[in-house]
Amino acid sequence: MNILFMGPPGAGKGTQAERIVEEFDIPHISTGDAFRLAMKQGTPLGQKAKEYVDQGLLVPDDVTNGIVRERLQQDDCAAGFLLDGFPRTISQAEALDEMLAGMNRKLDHVINLKVDRSLLLARLTGRRICKSCGSTYHVLFNPPVEEGVCAKCGGELYQRSDDTEEKVGTRLDEYISKTAPLLAYYDKQDLLREVDGEKEIDTVTAEIADCLRGTE
Ligand code: ADP
Ligand code: ADP
Ligand code: ZN
Repeated sequence: MNILFMGPPGAGKGTQAERIVEEFDIPHISTGDAFRLAMKQGTPLGQKAKEYVDQGLLVPDDVTNGIVRERLQQDDCAAGFLLDGFPRTISQAEALDEMLAGMNRKLDHVINLKVDRSLLLARLTGRRICKSCGSTYHVLFNPPVEEGVCAKCGGELYQRSDDTEEKVGTRLDEYISKTAPLLAYYDKQDLLREVDGEKEIDTVTAEIADCLRGTE
């Protein structure tokens, strides 16, 4: 099953992806995670990405497309994948269509997590991530049992440097101008499914799973 998650920053894509990949046993491909790893390692890709990520701007399409093209060719994607945070521009979506056509594959589902802009700032500024396993928490909405400690692996939680009020504003503007037009792109192909991302985390997971199983 080839799945794509769409939605503004803070909609819950990463949180839901963690759960859905476990249930459907497919790899989770997050371009944001890939950039953060490259930045931490200080690779040339990381240095390039940092210029943009630090400002809350989208990384240029050619850089981003290259990562996804390589990743989709790895063996573990043969039975399917979940793309989270890619594509984010029409040009990335066209590149993805080309990559998939070249592999004789296509997207099966595009899930759009709908969350009102007014909720996103609180979601993003309260987000915490595990340094060791990448699990996502929220200080109020999804707190770990022990403050600052990952409930899954005991790792230390940190706050992303772009989860500040100032950067969130830029990221939301980028979303509206460059990414939101993709919804019409996928709707035209009859792939788009809307899920209410404002509900409880477990309810959202169940609704996404229903869409994917086609029982909805
Ligand atoms: P995205 O990957 O779309 O940017 P995340 O999955 O990282 O979003 O979620 C953003 C923040 O909101 C995280 O702190 C997460 O714990 C929290 N969150 C995710 N889904 C929900 C939900 N349904 N209700 C309340 N908080 C949520
Ligand atoms: P979120 O969904 O919470 O906004 P991500 O982890 O998906 O965050 O992305 C973090 C940052 O990485 C983005 O603000 C952007 O700079 C960069 N990025 C991630 N995915 C893409 C993409 N598909 N195209 C361009 N830039 C991207
Ligand atoms: Zn952890």
